[in-house]
Amino acid sequence: MKRVLITGAAGFLGSHLSDRFIKEGYYVIGMDNFITGDQKNIEHLLNNSSYEFIEHDITKYISIEGDLDYILHFASPASPIDYLKIPIQTLKVGSLGTHNCLGLAKAKNARILIASTSEVYGDPLVHPQTEEYYGNVNTIGPRGVYDEAKRFQESITMAYHRFHGLETRIVRIFNTYGPRMRLNDGRVIPAFMGQALRGEDLTVFGDGSQTRSFCYVDDQVEGIFRLLHSDYSKPVNIGNPHEISIKDFAEEIIKLTGTKQKIVYKELPVNDPMQRQPDITLAKKLLNWEPKVDRAEGMKKTFEYFKNLTQEELYKSEHKDFSDYIN
Ligand code: NAD
Ligand code: UDP
Repeated sequence: MKRVLITGAAGFLGSHLSDRFIKEGYYVIGMDNFITGDQKNIEHLLNNSSYEFIEHDITKYISIEGDLDYILHFASPASPIDYLKIPIQTLKVGSLGTHNCLGLAKAKNARILIASTSEVYGDPLVHPQTEEYYGNVNTIGPRGVYDEAKRFQESITMAYHRFHGLETRIVRIFNTYGPRMRLNDGRVIPAFMGQALRGEDLTVFGDGSQTRSFCYVDDQVEGIFRLLHSDYSKPVNIGNPHEISIKDFAEEIIKLTGTKQKIVYKELPVNDPMQRQPDITLAKKLLNWEPKVDRAEGMKKTFEYFKNLTQEELYKSEHKDFSDYIN
């Protein structure tokens, strides 16, 4: 059995990746410190003989017994509100945490795939974004803690590849959604769905003309799976190019959920990217991959998930209390 370590395994993407790798016959070691993750996302795996879980903060030395064939490094806060609340942990997990993962990969002679992001392009001046674009990031803005940690993560990964000959893969993930996102993580889909389900107005930031392109989780996982098994070590965009303005998206959610509430406008966060759409030419050519789930279908599945949360979970939507994790 091939053995794979997944960091961030109790998070949204990490838990879906764990499911997929187990289904493909791998032995999965999940690792997480729960800072933005949820025990609920891994409960279904805890009795599986192909799975073990280690609670650990990966900014500290990582120790794994036995061989490892692959590392999928997904640990990091991913929602703008999360990383604004825990900026130093965000910088540390992207830098120190990535360094530890790379060192572990080198020691075990394992191939490592790291989760990068469309945020490396910042507020992009090139549209749609191709992998060649260097980006437009404000290093000292509030989002800089995430964007620069991810840019550093890419640099140190390429350095390990070039200097140590480590087998590395870099996925630049564009806004991905689906079941198991935290309802209170502040990202736009759980935010709008939570508001619709609680009978609150939907908060659109700015005038809502900024755009995003949303990718359903199953498509994202498929792209990551193929990239890991490819022989390409430079970054690859994985996302769904179907772009929509946030205002139109709020209207779509109002229709889908049947809520009687309306849109209210709030201030646009500093450095909120005004447009985002992946150019996926490279992924199509290299991996023979493209997204299969359109937004209507993906949003329906996601709404089903949020609708089935308990009333307690629905109203526990104040932001997660991070105080236990600050060090
Ligand atoms: P998430 O917050 O649901 O998952 C992240 C997980 O990492 C959480 O379970 C958290 O507890 C864990 N974690 C954070 N710091 C840690 C540490 N120091 N030690 C151990 N575990 C730690 O977010 P997600 O959406 O699943 O994102 C996963 C990865 O994918 C992140 O690296 C994120 O930057 C990247 N990404 C996601 C998206 C997206 O749209 N979902 C887009 C771009 C990039
Ligand atoms: N957004 C919004 N209302 C919300 C949450 C987010 O209008 O309640 C906007 C946000 O300003 C951004 C877009 O939705 O333009 C996507 O935000 P998200 O936090 O999901 O991720 P981002 O792509 O900015 O990292």
